[in-house]
Parts: sequence; structure tokens; C-alpha cells
Amino acid sequence: MSSYTKKKLISAVAPLLSNIGVCKLFAPAYAGLGHILTFHRVIKPQNKQRIHNHLSLEISPEQLENTIAFYKSQKYDFISLDEVYQRLHSPKRLSKFVAFTFDDGYRDNYTIAYPILKKHQIPFTIYITTNFPNCKAVLWWYFLEEEILKNDSIDFEWQAKHYHFDCSSIINKEASFDHIKNLITRSFQIEDHEDLLSVIFKKEKTALYSHVKALALSWQEIKTISQDPLCTIGAHTVNHYPLSQLTTEQVISEINESRELIELYTGKAVEHFAYPFGKIEQASLREFDAVKALKFKTGTTTRIGNIFKAHRHKTECLPRISINSITDTSVLRLQSSGLLPFIIHRGRKVVTN
Ligand SMILES: [Zn+2]
Repeated sequence: MSSYTKKKLISAVAPLLSNIGVCKLFAPAYAGLGHILTFHRVIKPQNKQRIHNHLSLEISPEQLENTIAFYKSQKYDFISLDEVYQRLHSPKRLSKFVAFTFDDGYRDNYTIAYPILKKHQIPFTIYITTNFPNCKAVLWWYFLEEEILKNDSIDFEWQAKHYHFDCSSIINKEASFDHIKNLITRSFQIEDHEDLLSVIFKKEKTALYSHVKALALSWQEIKTISQDPLCTIGAHTVNHYPLSQLTTEQVISEINESRELIELYTGKAVEHFAYPFGKIEQASLREFDAVKALKFKTGTTTRIGNIFKAHRHKTECLPRISINSITDTSVLRLQSSGLLPFIIHRGRKVVTN
């Protein structure tokens, strides 16, 4: 089952479960101290065909407002990641919290999300992949969406093998997106990563940087937004590679170099980190150890889970709750009560690895 199909299934059953009061039964034991939300882009709805994977990465300004309204109605405290760290180490019992985090460093975080967050005085973190503002990262998932939507098939030769992907129907387009995405992330080698992208998209390497120039925050924008006390800038590596595919030396340099560059541009210490992609296939014990050794206060994954007191011993691998285009109030209720993490992790409460 694709991750989008799972999300659709969850949004279909969420109203039912929340109407019959199951969430209320779960919340006392499973809601935990609160949770950390994952966002990527906030953009105005687009009236064109999209690949579903991208709908997981984008929400509308209205949805951001609705998410804020939901947590206000539930009397959650809106807190920064510094405060999440403090609360994990504090013996006091406080209200439940929610922390907003945005991955990658898209320009719309500044132009669209920031005015909304500022209006409501919501603290937030933006995790920057530093080759985004350096305009040297390849947002291959956007090229892939474009190629799949405009073609009936995609063909290329790679390492003496011919690849053919049927894109003649919506279903085939979705399946081809998932297959090519897996090819790019699972057989990843730094040395030939851009060669592979060049071959798939039939573009010169320099032309692969076009999307990042259009979509990413600039260093000037990062510097400006970082001056607001509501904003925390976190690190998200240099290149957004799947870390599990790198050597330990490369992992440390991807993490450290991004931190140092952000500190140079903002003049502020970087104490929070998010793992690129963040699933078990891309970030696990070795990567967590690296983040711990580098003395970050927190490291966040994309494992789904709420935050519990026991996470104070595992602040380098905090789970999050992802907000996507089909997250409505009933899904939020399902997630915040702990019921959804309970189902996904088959009863496990404290999600780390
Ligand atoms: Zn990311």
C-alpha cells in the first residue's frame, strides 16, 4: 500500500473513530506530553494535476490556520524546540504542548507561513538543508513529478540496464513515481547521484539546480527570519541525502557542515537537527549516535509518535506527527490522542527507533 493510500485510509476512518469517542478513551494514557508537527510547504491550492507524494509535502494557508485553531481549541501550549527539550527535563506537570517544525527550507515558509505564525505568535523551527540556499541541491522530486505528468512513459539506461516506466494512466504515474523514487533513494551513491539524475531527467548537471533557485529560502531570508525570537533555525544536512547510505565520516560531515554554515549566516547556535527523509531506512542508530555525539539538543525523525517523558533519554530521535493536505480535524484528533501512533506501532507508546 502506498503511503498516500494509507493516509487516505486514515482520513476515511478518522471521523468514525473520533465520533464514537475512541480518541477520548486513548488520550489519558497515549497522548503523552504533546507532539512535534512536521510541515514542508505552505502554498495556495493549485488547480492542476499533481502526484500524490507531493500532496504529503504541501498544505494550504487555510490548513495551517485550521491546525493552529485545533490546538488552540484543545488548550495546547505552542512552544519552541528549546522548550520541548526543557520540558522533557523538568519535573513540573504542565499543559500539553505542540511544536511546529518545517523541513528543508522552502521560500513559502517565509512568504506564506511566517505571516500566519507571526499573527498567532506561534514559535516554529525551520530545518535548513544548506545546499538549498547555496542553490546546489537537486529537488529531484519536482523534476520527477513534472516528467511523469507530461509523459506517457519514462525510459533511461543506467549501469548497463534499461529502465522503462509506464506513465500512461494516473495509477501508472503514481506507481512509476514510487518506483523511480525508490531507485534514487535506495541505490544511492554520492559519487554517481547527480549522474543518475542527469540520466533520468536528460538534463545537464547545472540545469538540475533550477528548482532550488526558484523554491528555496535565500541566505538573506534565513538571516532575516532567524532574528525573530519566534523562529529557530535547525540543521537538515548539506545535501538532503539518505544518511543511511553514506559512510560514517560522510554522515558527520553532512550534519556538521550544515550546522556550521547556518551558524555563520545567522550568528546563532544551531542546536536542533532533523534527519532527511527520517524513516527507519534512512536514519537509525548510527545516525542517532552521530547527532548525540555532536551535542544537538534534539534530533527529529519522521516516525509517527507523540512525545513522552521517557523521550528525555532519547532526545536525538524524537518522533513527529506529519501534517499533509488531507489532515483534517478528525485526523488531528486521532493523532493527538495517541490512537494513530498506537495503531501504526502496534501498541508501542514511546517511539524512538
Ligand atoms: Zn527534508
